[in-house]
Amino acid sequence: MVTLSPRVGRLRARNPSPMTLDGTNGYVVRVGPRALVAIDPGPVDAAQRDAFLAAAREANAAYAAILVTHGHPDHFPGAAPLAAATGAPVFAHPEARFPHDRALADAERLAFDDAAFTVLHGPGHARDHLIFVLDDERALFTGDVILGTGTVVVAPPGGEMRTYQRTLHRLRDEYGDANAIYGGHGPEVRAVRAKLDEYILHREARERQVVDALAGGATIPELVARIYTDVDRRLWPAAARQVLAYLIALEAEARVRSERITRGPTAQEAALLDPDLSKLGEEAGADVIRAELGYGSAEPLLRYRLA
Ligand SMILES: [Zn+2]
Repeated sequence: MVTLSPRVGRLRARNPSPMTLDGTNGYVVRVGPRALVAIDPGPVDAAQRDAFLAAAREANAAYAAILVTHGHPDHFPGAAPLAAATGAPVFAHPEARFPHDRALADAERLAFDDAAFTVLHGPGHARDHLIFVLDDERALFTGDVILGTGTVVVAPPGGEMRTYQRTLHRLRDEYGDANAIYGGHGPEVRAVRAKLDEYILHREARERQVVDALAGGATIPELVARIYTDVDRRLWPAAARQVLAYLIALEAEARVRSERITRGPTAQEAALLDPDLSKLGEEAGADVIRAELGYGSAEPLLRYRLA
């Protein structure tokens, strides 16, 4: 376990991939002389579960609760086995579709023996996303809303761009002065306001690129080819989902409109819009990619233009 603060330690699950960076971060938080809280047990993995159990043994403490940031398969499935091994209840968002003992309200205060969390609903990456604020250290457990490195995937239908941007603004408004961000992947972040500024500006810059690239009308594959020129082509299917998230937001605001193209997609277009996940997900596992990128039904080929 990596010690991050007097209360917080990090256990990284062994599920590295392009989607999960070095692996999913689990956290052990000391909330009393004999009490701990586990955050994000991760995938079902005996080694990660055993690491949580060993942390409790070493601390001579027991888990008072298991908190889950969101219902993606790299974060929640380990909750049930950890709960079975410890007897601790699982706390999650009211819209979480995985088994949990208690649903947490926005702004709810979760008090333990000598520490408390404030719960924030933080939708945008996933509908059932929670952020936990460790009050006395003013530390944010952000799950996949903010990562230690890189940017977050916001892909429909679970991901919603304007909702995500609202969550980022709320974090900056209310917690820009926080001391640390402990994200779902990657290293801890100490420069909190700078990270929030970076995330907010990145989204605005990307959206301007989408709008600029729409001149004369374009399909999503054309937009990706125009915008993501210097990005590894293997990441283009993910880029296509991001572009779709911006277009959905712009269309809802009547700034963009779309029309269906009568021909079917070419093989190249289809590979971008509806890729073979088994090929994309050598290491990550198709379930993580499907959840992150929101694949379900194939998107029709549309041409978008500025309204
Ligand atoms: Zn994740």
